[in-house]
Amino acid sequence: AGNTPSSLRYDRRTLWQKDKDHFIHPFTDFSLFHEKGCDLIVDSDGIYVEDAHGNRFIDGIAGLWCVNVGHGRAEIGQAMAEQATRMAYFSTFNNLSNAPAAELAAKLAELAPANLNHVFFSCGGSAANDATIRLVHYYFNRLGKPSKKRILSRRNAYHGTTYLAASLTGIESNNWDFDTLDHLVTHLSEANLYRRPEGMSEADYCDHLVAELEETIVEIGAENIAAFIAEPIMGAGGVLMPPQGYHARMQTVCRANDILFIADEVVTGFGRLGHFFASEAVFDTQPDIINCAKGLSSGYAPLGATLISDEIYKVLGTPQRKGGVLSTGFTYSGHPVSCAAALKNIEIIEREAICENVREVGPYLAQKLKTLADHETVGDVRGSHFMLAIENVADKATKKLLPVEARVGDRVAAEAQKRGLIIRPVGHLNILSPPLIWDREVVDRVVAILDEAFAATTVSLKADGYL
Ligand code: PMP
Repeated sequence: AGNTPSSLRYDRRTLWQKDKDHFIHPFTDFSLFHEKGCDLIVDSDGIYVEDAHGNRFIDGIAGLWCVNVGHGRAEIGQAMAEQATRMAYFSTFNNLSNAPAAELAAKLAELAPANLNHVFFSCGGSAANDATIRLVHYYFNRLGKPSKKRILSRRNAYHGTTYLAASLTGIESNNWDFDTLDHLVTHLSEANLYRRPEGMSEADYCDHLVAELEETIVEIGAENIAAFIAEPIMGAGGVLMPPQGYHARMQTVCRANDILFIADEVVTGFGRLGHFFASEAVFDTQPDIINCAKGLSSGYAPLGATLISDEIYKVLGTPQRKGGVLSTGFTYSGHPVSCAAALKNIEIIEREAICENVREVGPYLAQKLKTLADHETVGDVRGSHFMLAIENVADKATKKLLPVEARVGDRVAAEAQKRGLIIRPVGHLNILSPPLIWDREVVDRVVAILDEAFAATTVSLKADGYL
């Protein structure tokens, strides 16, 4: 912070007050927030961030699953600045385009699985999912199948918070006191190996989930179902691991019933599981549509993208009604500065072999993290590569949860933060989704901090009578 240029120095006390008084924070408990104010993160560098008091932390969550190449990449800032000063913005509607958007669309087509050669840009993950569902409905309307409207999603899925994306989202508490578009969405069971029915083998569990899909299709009628949307590994829902072969089998059933298979790779894309896209490389699926955001620009600028197959594009691209156009899109679809950030971000991922780093360090991280299972409250340590979670329980044998008021996830996160590491509390879970540049030495430091944090949490839970 000593080197921070004066234009970037903040009057931290005043800022804190302004934030508390005026900024409506997303996903925030206002009663706690009004009592405590907020943690103001002001500086960043590589794997670190720094708060308003000058405390430095290892960032264990890559901002919010997004800063994949790490913080403070001057070359991304520079690419954005050059684009902003040359031509910050112009429309991409009608027949207009800009150089970074065209370059990025072509680059994404090159990186994506085989037939996903067409890109629709939006401003983030929710907007990408929302735009996708509109395009899917449009596709079936144009094919002369207007009854195909229903989208199959899954309980505990997270797909965002625009009205439509929130309706796809299946985390019940996310929609408390909100409305959802229930006529458009049906939620299937989530794939959750840890909490699968008692005594069921992994293979039987997979059969059970596939059978549920088949039964739902019979119930609703394939002629009324447009698509199935799924995160390859459920993220915000708790890093829920599917049983072996699940996605490929779900896709086979979808194909047989003329139901589009949409992979929401907002979290899993751009290296988090060791590949640009996990669908084909990790889960052996060939989605009709892949959505991405977050790691696409490593969070340096807002950006989302919907990657669309040749087959769907053929239908979208057939001539419109006389006087009509494909009337959907955002002012900022293909924003030049965001696309310039994404291009530089992808260049860094390739140049520094970041996917290879994830494939090399990821298994080590998972293996080291598993040692935390010795702690009294750690029921499950799961995930893959740089997408991991720890599930806290009151009783390992019964998997019984601690009461909500114990705020166990918050306790662990606070103990870790005291020791210089930010991880994410989600109810009784703690989620780890680091920048993809951690090496083994960082992993060792992180696991040592977590070891102390879980030990301290057990002590505090006992002191408060929860254990
Ligand atoms: N899909 C998934 C899988 C996500 O994890 C998220 C965000 N966490 C979204 C969509 C929504 O993205 P955004 O917050 O950029 O709208």
